[in-house]
Amino acid sequence: MRLAICPGSFDPVTNGHLDIIKRSSKMFDELIVAVFHNPNKKPFFTMEERVEMLRMATEGIPNVRVDSFTGLLNEYVRLNNTHVIVRGLRAFSDFEAEVQRALLIKSVDPEIETIFIMTSGKYSFVSSTGIKELAGFGGKITGLVPACVEERLIKRSRDFIATGK
Ligand code: ADP
Repeated sequence: MRLAICPGSFDPVTNGHLDIIKRSSKMFDELIVAVFHNPNKKPFFTMEERVEMLRMATEGIPNVRVDSFTGLLNEYVRLNNTHVIVRGLRAFSDFEAEVQRALLIKSVDPEIETIFIMTSGKYSFVSSTGIKELAGFGGKITGLVPACVEERLIKRSRDFIATGK
């Protein structure tokens, strides 16, 4: 069975992520979308909330499973008996960080391959960070995030801007 891991912070999942998830799910028998804790990013939504939103957003894709993990991505990949990681690429700025990350993973475990899927033009400007900012200031995010994320994001972003928490 061909299994791949699609890791990320997904804070929260956007339609850009979903596009990558849908397209890569067609290339594998099973795709595990794994929410990771990124120590360089202060999370906006809890791990549980991010997993819940991802589950709702991907429930129509039968071969996608959502999971979460705190620890080394290499370990998680091996725990699932695979060696394939899928990541999305938007711009040159993504490319530099992604190449570094992929090579670092390879230096620990040379058999792990990272595959990159190019963003769809219509989502190339969509990032979780941008979406959070836009929602916080009352901007329209319809069509940029799954419907299940939209309402929660608007409410949380307003609270965040008002209280700083
Ligand atoms: P991380 O915090 O691990 O960088 P993110 O949740 O921000 O994770 O993103 C997960 C993956 O999805 C990354 O490979 C990122 O480049 C990719 N990605 C994010 N937004 C888009 C988009 N609009 N189009 C394509 N890929 C994207």
